[in-house]
Amino acid sequence: MTTIKEIVSEMKGATPEDIAFVEKAYEYSKKAHEGQMRFSGEPYFIHPAATAKILAEYGMDATTIAAGLLHDTVEDGRVPRKDVEKEFGKELLFIIDGVTKLGTHKYHGAERHAESLRRLLVATASDIRVLIVKLADRKHNMQTLEYVPEHKRRRIALETLEIYAHIADRLGMGKMKRILEDLAFPFVDPDASSHVAEVRKLKTKETEIGLAKVQKELQRELAKKVITTFRTDIRIKGLWSLYQKLLRKNDDISLIHDIAALRVIVPKIEDCYAALGVVHALYKPLPGEFKDYIAFQKPNGYQSIHTTVVTPEAGIVEIQIRTEEMHRRAQFGIASHMSYKQLGKGVEKLEKGVQKSRFSSLSFSWVRSLIPSLMKVSGKEGGVRGATKVPAWLTELAEANTDIAGSEEFVDGLKEDFFSHRVFVFTPKGDVIDLPAASTPIDFAYAIHSDLGNHLQGAKVNGKLVSFDTALGNGDVVEILRRDSAHPSPKWLEIARTSLARRHIRAALGMAEPAKPLRRRRQHHANKK
Ligand code: MN
Repeated sequence: MTTIKEIVSEMKGATPEDIAFVEKAYEYSKKAHEGQMRFSGEPYFIHPAATAKILAEYGMDATTIAAGLLHDTVEDGRVPRKDVEKEFGKELLFIIDGVTKLGTHKYHGAERHAESLRRLLVATASDIRVLIVKLADRKHNMQTLEYVPEHKRRRIALETLEIYAHIADRLGMGKMKRILEDLAFPFVDPDASSHVAEVRKLKTKETEIGLAKVQKELQRELAKKVITTFRTDIRIKGLWSLYQKLLRKNDDISLIHDIAALRVIVPKIEDCYAALGVVHALYKPLPGEFKDYIAFQKPNGYQSIHTTVVTPEAGIVEIQIRTEEMHRRAQFGIASHMSYKQLGKGVEKLEKGVQKSRFSSLSFSWVRSLIPSLMKVSGKEGGVRGATKVPAWLTELAEANTDIAGSEEFVDGLKEDFFSHRVFVFTPKGDVIDLPAASTPIDFAYAIHSDLGNHLQGAKVNGKLVSFDTALGNGDVVEILRRDSAHPSPKWLEIARTSLARRHIRAALGMAEPAKPLRRRRQHHANKK
């Protein structure tokens, strides 16, 4: 049983009030679940307690950790919702309600529905903390899946693999993704899973000793070249991810060079390139296998340098070079942006009330971008009025946005994968704004308010002045400088990435919306049928 002490010890930088809040939730949940059992025969409370500990390890705030403790108390009517609200506040109840709602959408293994379900879950969540609690909940449920009745196991494992691991991946939560995949794999395909495990074991054993030698040699060379503070480790590829790669390479293990990779973690970006120099001076790189995800980060924010080299000791080896910060992000993704531990560093000067607001207003415009597709599912004419099955809050959002729903750019935008190509950036207050990849400060300003966009004078990213065409990266803190005399220029149309910004710029410049040729309208109707 996870003790309250274990949870609290993970809450680095928490105030005494935060700790008291979590302690209260711990006792409350324990009592609420009294007499209730897990399939394993253990007390039910081990589950919420374990979920809370995972959330604490991810550095989540006290409200989210407490929500993890209480996430199953309301669902089966053990505790009235208003009691939870009275004891722990609206915000916590909102998260719990979100988690409960997510549980009502179940995946039954039709491949073509997987993407819509992922979208639906994200739309339902509406607050990223809901998804993070759900992922922590799922992780513990997967760790205890063997006790669940057999006929249920496969469905849950498949859902984990197809839905939740993907969501974790798109949120940049690499560690969670890998754990969920590897917990689910044996239940989804036991034969393939044990085959891949066997292959990995043999191959790892083969390279282990050689790899340790390479590691030593590299450490020595790095130290010689003034890179004094660094660490290295060996990472073994996840089973599911290895399986996927084997499928792509026709089950030819000799074509896979990253089963075991050597990681070099250094303090600064410059050190990454210096370390790369050391590596390439020492070992010959394989042409075409070099990837600089630092200069060109993956859509989910992943950053690292990958190079594959030939070593005398261990044959072909993949080496990954990154900073501590990149390493943390690669593991925790979006969660690291809201991490309590991180917050402590950045917002020390802010008052506590302000710091709280960082969590309370996470709004996601992607929800809005989902509306038309949801309408199509439920409404006969694709219109708002026909959509009786759509939840009220979604309908409200849609009604507020009907003016953009028909625009061609908007419809085109929908065709793009809605959040694998997105970046999450912050306002100075810590609100999350989600934008398409390669968005600029202009897009950011208009995403906040048209007035801010129309009087955009300058922009700071992470405290530094930048030009308007700067591509924003995941986790950037963007501050917009406003001046009444500043106005959009036609050049902005080339820089802006979002249709929202372009529409406002055109309007401000007195340009009419581009006329829609009849042909396009017809196409539009044809698509509806
Ligand atoms: Mn649960």
